[in-house]
Amino acid sequence: MNKKTQFSIGYFLFIFIIMSLIHTLFFQGARYQRIPYNEFRAMLKEGDVERVDIRGDRLQGILKRRDADGAQRFFETAKVADPELIKLLEGAGVTFQGQFEPPWLVQVFTSWVLPLGILFAIYAFVLRRMGPGQGVMAFGKNKAKIFAEKEVGVRFEDVAGVDEAKAELAEVVDYLKNPDRYLRLGGKIPRGVLLVGPPGCGKTLMAKAVAGEAGVFFFSISGSEFVEMFVGLGAARVRDLFEQAMEKAPCIVFVDELDALGKARGVGNIAGGHDEREQTLNQLLVEMDGFDTRKGVIIMAATNRPEILDPALLRPGRFDRQVLVDKPDLSGRRHILEVHTKVLVLGPDVNIERLAEMTPGLSGADLANLANEAALLAARHDRDAVMMADFEEAFERVAAGLEKRSRVMTNEERRRVAYHELGHAMVAELVGTADPVQKVSIIPRGLAALGYTLQRPTEDRYLLSKKELEDRIAVLLAGRAAEEVVFEEVSTGAQNDLQRATDMARSMVTEYGMSERFGPHAMGGTPRSLFLGGGNGASHLDISEATQREVDEEVEKILDGASARATEILRERRDDLEALTARLLEQETIGGDELRTALGVAEAREGDSAL
Ligand code: ADP
Ligand code: ZN
Repeated sequence: MNKKTQFSIGYFLFIFIIMSLIHTLFFQGARYQRIPYNEFRAMLKEGDVERVDIRGDRLQGILKRRDADGAQRFFETAKVADPELIKLLEGAGVTFQGQFEPPWLVQVFTSWVLPLGILFAIYAFVLRRMGPGQGVMAFGKNKAKIFAEKEVGVRFEDVAGVDEAKAELAEVVDYLKNPDRYLRLGGKIPRGVLLVGPPGCGKTLMAKAVAGEAGVFFFSISGSEFVEMFVGLGAARVRDLFEQAMEKAPCIVFVDELDALGKARGVGNIAGGHDEREQTLNQLLVEMDGFDTRKGVIIMAATNRPEILDPALLRPGRFDRQVLVDKPDLSGRRHILEVHTKVLVLGPDVNIERLAEMTPGLSGADLANLANEAALLAARHDRDAVMMADFEEAFERVAAGLEKRSRVMTNEERRRVAYHELGHAMVAELVGTADPVQKVSIIPRGLAALGYTLQRPTEDRYLLSKKELEDRIAVLLAGRAAEEVVFEEVSTGAQNDLQRATDMARSMVTEYGMSERFGPHAMGGTPRSLFLGGGNGASHLDISEATQREVDEEVEKILDGASARATEILRERRDDLEALTARLLEQETIGGDELRTALGVAEAREGDSAL
């Protein structure tokens, strides 16, 4: 049993106990002491009884003798068919009378409806105190977890260093401001925009800025919160969210941590409880498909793990636009620092440029933290202004906390990483069919990757030709090839590339029947799953050792061929490689368009042009 159901059972048990308590206290008459009928008769004969009420199923009465402290004593006994009762009562001189039974409707009302009403009133009262806008009817809807903001104070100028993202989102702002113009021209309007990037780089801030710029309502909710809810409530909440959004359209609906909700089905949910998540996800998909874009509701979502998202979420008409909100490069960091030091009183020696140079790998949130920390230190030192020394001290503190996350590269390492990444990027652009490069970066991303090259898939690809697969393998091996061309030796940095290239080549041979040696012949078994991290090279094929060896040879042939092609391309364009590496080392990032201009190639894009 999981937490949610335990909680709800406890909840109902609690209500039940309270109800029973109220019942016994007020309606069962606890003050009546129950006695057997014969005892009652005995007391009657003794003349102890002062008065008796005859009810439908019982006799209730008062004794003559009082308590020690002078209180009346009540008793009751079950009524039995006793023909002598009236005579006995008369004989004992007892006042007695029958009682009108209230109609059952009244009984039900007084014993159940009334206490329930009282309870509900208390509940509503508590709810009201928990948050504004949470009326009684919001019961089971949401407990202040959908945040709606009318006037968002954030503007694009508050989000620094993510100019490409801003440029892409400017369109969305424009649409929210002038939906009519777009509709008149019959333009297609985006529904879902997925903000992708590491934590703390301003995804939430960006979404808010879009709402702020457009002057529309901003609804936000976090994907991880759905998952902690009662079963069924997540879906209800999604429905409610969209209902509210429709009322306030045009507006932005922002779903933070989409991956918590939208994990691909069947990935990493061995422990139960995913039904709820799936239900909620389905509801989100239903709402996204169902709502009318003309109303001007745009859904933005954030994730730092786009690769684990359910592909259904990324289909056209859903989150089909992805905007990268990445870690800032040198100039980005300078801008972010400028934004966050604007409110501070800075000493004359503070050099933002130098601070930006000092802080590669820090996210926007880290930099905001740095500025704040510096201000606190200055205050502690009783200064009139925040000095450079404060920033340096603050940086040491912040950096100490970060050391585990991303280590600082030496210059030699940076150079190597730059060549390596440009190798990937250049071959991707020059090889023929690979996806266009979105960005090359040597900003450390985390423990695993020292730099990275992002490629934007032109369209959903389910079918790849042999040539396309070979091109992809060449791109994967190009990092290593570049190191070889320049340094005449390779480093350990290419390990992951090599693994992926090998996996791909092996699939070509054993699954897709693309080798000359084996021809169209699948060897069964899927040696690895796409999602489970690409296996460790071990395959579970039931083929003989000799065949296995031949498979290895075929794989090797594919890899060698691809590597040779990558090397050839890079040798041929050695001058470009050097020039671009110098530029990358200086700027830390190179955008896809910049790269293509430098290489003199045009971007071949198909599916990405429409808004
Ligand atoms: P994310 O949603 O990507 O995890 P947030 O948008 O919540 O990151 O960023 C957290 C905080 O870090 C922001 O409120 C802001 O103060 C600061 N920050 C992050 N990125 C930037 C940026 N690009 N420009 C200015 N401030 C930023
Ligand atoms: Zn690589």
